[in-house]
Amino acid sequence: METMNPMDDCLPGPPASANAGAPPTVGRVYLVGAGPGDAELLTLRAVRLLQKADVVVYDQLVSDAVLEFVAPGAQRIFAGKRRNEHTLRQEQINALLVQLAREGKQVVRLKGGDPFIFGRGGEEMQALAEQGIAFEVVPGVTAASGVSSYAGIPLTHRDYAQSCLFVTGHLKDGTADLDWPSLVRERQTVVIYMGLNALPDICRQMIAHGASPERPIAVVQNGSLATQRVVTGTLADMAQRVAQAGLVSPCLTLIGDVVRLHNTLDWFQPQA
Ligand code: SAH
Repeated sequence: METMNPMDDCLPGPPASANAGAPPTVGRVYLVGAGPGDAELLTLRAVRLLQKADVVVYDQLVSDAVLEFVAPGAQRIFAGKRRNEHTLRQEQINALLVQLAREGKQVVRLKGGDPFIFGRGGEEMQALAEQGIAFEVVPGVTAASGVSSYAGIPLTHRDYAQSCLFVTGHLKDGTADLDWPSLVRERQTVVIYMGLNALPDICRQMIAHGASPERPIAVVQNGSLATQRVVTGTLADMAQRVAQAGLVSPCLTLIGDVVRLHNTLDWFQPQA
């Protein structure tokens, strides 16, 4: 078990005058990436922190297998979005983290994948920084990396893609508001997070902006988990294929010629 050395803390503590007479703040928030689902993809640092945390505030995408590493006595607070369930708003989560740290707790803020990639981790740490709360960030395997690996789809490959673009397909006003000319470039892989609902629009727009209707595309549901499913197709037929397969969130979309390699590199046997 690690011991905390206050000298290691390079972040400013709370202003001395703000807390005059009160016990010093000793709490700290660790923003930890939980990876895409398979607990084997956790970092050693994540496992160590989960085992010693007083409180773990976790999101929807954190798998049950990952939560098994939380110490039995630790408090668990679910902060994610779940349909038909009351969940915390972003400001409430920020306030909760500040409050727990002020109570002197060692807090793990656990997020799916990597906390700094489409995870609002930056916003949460900004809120802590503003309040003078000490924090650390522990990277995780982001979905693009973990899910593509388990689907046997290399993000780059000398024959097919020299670059890779991560974008969010989260809908704003019912349409995906993306930089289409940069998305349709040849010899690159496009990875779309949160793009399931927008998939028909994305495929249509990419074709409208000059991509071949035959460009390969894969949608991976629950990547790295026993429930992983991979559906492949082309920009022209993918919306229909995904609807037929009945894929549900979380799904990651990968677009580009590297998707052709799935047939040969599909190593993961999810139900095994
Ligand atoms: N911070 C996370 C992303 C959060 S956004 C990360 O770095 O991975 C949530 C989106 O991530 C989901 O809508 C989905 O597009 C993707 N995602 C996360 N885990 C996934 C998984 N196991 N399988 C497929 N997609 C996943």
